Amino acid sequence: MKVIIVGGGIGGLATAVALHQRGIQVEVLERAAEFTEVGAGLSIQPNGLRALDALGLGEHLRAGVLAGPPAGIRNSRGDWLIRNDVDDLKRRFGPWVTVHRAALIGLLRAAVPAEALRPGTAVQEVRPDGTVRHSGGVSTADVVVGADGVHSVTRGSLWPSLSSPRYVGYTTWRFIAPPQPVEESVETWGRGERFGYLPMPDGRIYCYVMANAPAGSDIGLNELRERFARWHRPIPALLESVAEEAVLQRDTHELPKLPTYVSGNVALLGDAAHAMTPNLGQGACQALEDAVTLAHTLDTLGPRAGLAAYDRARRPRTQMIVRRSRQVGAPAHWTSTPMTTLRDAALPLLPKMFFNRSLTPTYTWTI
Ligand SMILES: Cc1cc2nc3c(=O)[nH]c(=O)nc-3n(C[C@H](O)[C@H](O)[C@H](O)COP(=O)(O)OP(=O)(O)OC[C@H]3O[C@@H](n4cnc5c(N)ncnc54)[C@H](O)[C@@H]3O)c2cc1C
Repeated sequence: MKVIIVGGGIGGLATAVALHQRGIQVEVLERAAEFTEVGAGLSIQPNGLRALDALGLGEHLRAGVLAGPPAGIRNSRGDWLIRNDVDDLKRRFGPWVTVHRAALIGLLRAAVPAEALRPGTAVQEVRPDGTVRHSGGVSTADVVVGADGVHSVTRGSLWPSLSSPRYVGYTTWRFIAPPQPVEESVETWGRGERFGYLPMPDGRIYCYVMANAPAGSDIGLNELRERFARWHRPIPALLESVAEEAVLQRDTHELPKLPTYVSGNVALLGDAAHAMTPNLGQGACQALEDAVTLAHTLDTLGPRAGLAAYDRARRPRTQMIVRRSRQVGAPAHWTSTPMTTLRDAALPLLPKMFFNRSLTPTYTWTI
């Protein structure tokens, strides 16, 4: 069996690793000149780490698991709204880790034979029979995997009438701050905006900001510094420690529910199938789960039955997580004072059980 993978991001490369390990021939077509990722961090949650374990790569990241830094949600003064019991969460679900995106891509890329990787190859069209038209000509395969991200050309080729990804009303900035003494992983909620910071194993701090804004807004670092100047420590210092060119801004999109992830010999995977808000830190983790599952079903059932089984296994779960992710992030973007006051008063009263239960379906995945 030969599989062409469109897109060499986390989802595409993980799929290539999983298929290659099962002796299936792969070819990864990536439009960028090299296989790499933006300069930002990424949380790999317990389920994502388990998917990497299935590829034999989890151990490389487990070395970077930090020893239980306090974690949770604060208000802009710094009071805890939710304080996670980190040790209990780790006992229940296993550890999680914050990594540099490029490091994860590097790990995956190294596990795929170099001759299977075709950077600088932009796909223009994918047909249900497994034909792929791209900048280097035309290729065919028994199965094509569209792992080409939220604005997927594969999806557009096969489902031209489906609605486009939806802007969810807030834009995101990401950056990596130089090492400084930050010993907690926190998301701080204000009114229509929030700031997150997570220490990485090498001492640098992965930071993100999300704020309500019209689609396509261009808001620079100086404005962010002003907006967050009176928020609790270390937020102002983190914003001061970074240069404008290191800050990446991107609008946040979510993909409406697709009726299927499969058409003919083609499957969608990762953001191409289920782009979600970043609120649960699950987009890449779900792409990793997709990859491991697809390799398993193709290997054990063959192309047609394997694709159908992949769709049955992955669509309900990923669409449930898209919905939960949207819901969980919504209160952070409320702007009315009565609503945010009520929110900040209610969150500390939530029983821990409620929080643990809400994570259980997402974190307990196994192949
Ligand atoms: C602000 C933010 C924070 C996030 N935080 C987390 C987190 O903490 N944890 C987590 O699990 N997830 C997180 N995510 C989600 C995660 O980044 C994505 O879900 C994940 O990167 C999706 O991977 P992918 O491989 O499906 O798509 P992508 O990463 O978009 O990769 C698609 C690849 O396809 C290539 N491509 C596109 N079109 C073509 C074409 N026509 N021909 C050839 N190649 C093409 C692209 O160049 C790219 O390399 C976050 C997302 C955002 C925006």
